[in-house]
Amino acid sequence: MERPRLVLASANPDKVVEMKLLLEGVAEVLPRPAGLPDVVEDGATLEENARLKAVAVSSATGLAAVADDTGLFVDALGGEPGVRSARFAGEDADYADNMAKLMADLDGVVPAMRTARFRTVAIVRYPGGNELVATGTVEGRIAETPSGEGGFGYDPVFVPFEGDGATFAEMGDDKHWFSHRGRALRALVAMLGTQPGSEPG
Ligand code: IMP
Repeated sequence: MERPRLVLASANPDKVVEMKLLLEGVAEVLPRPAGLPDVVEDGATLEENARLKAVAVSSATGLAAVADDTGLFVDALGGEPGVRSARFAGEDADYADNMAKLMADLDGVVPAMRTARFRTVAIVRYPGGNELVATGTVEGRIAETPSGEGGFGYDPVFVPFEGDGATFAEMGDDKHWFSHRGRALRALVAMLGTQPGSEPG
């Protein structure tokens, strides 16, 4: 079967690296065209935000686009930062700002109460409006101190329960065995070409 051609809808270089790796050998992956305006991610859910990005890029290119949207849901914070994970510490916050706010908000919270999960919704959107939607979740806890140099975002403080106690940032590419994005993309790949919704147009 010919490999499907998918345009990456993400403008985040860290996510692009991971998505390319996860789609390697499965799809012909094209970069997000330079010059496309940023998509305002003002949806109320991960799925809405993933769709906003996928529709924008599919409409602009006339090609199938793949987008993901991810949130970190921390139980002791009532599910925050969730859909606001990129802007947790403010509109212009960077990864370090967001992680510092997370650490501050969890100050004094004991390890057993620091449970959390990453959730990703990944969408392939075809120019005619058909789409495939998949989700991926990983359960874990927020460490008391950041550790590790790999990954991005909240990876230095996220310890998946399925691992050996290491943070995602300490795992290198092993992160993808149980990561939210790995799971969502593998589920999406399993659907490619298998149902009517996957036909272009
Ligand atoms: P986005 O809206 O899907 O681009 O992601 C929201 C925010 O979640 C990002 O700015 C990162 O801070 C964080 N994030 C997304 N994916 C990951 C991941 O795989 N590891 C750690 N943090 C992530």
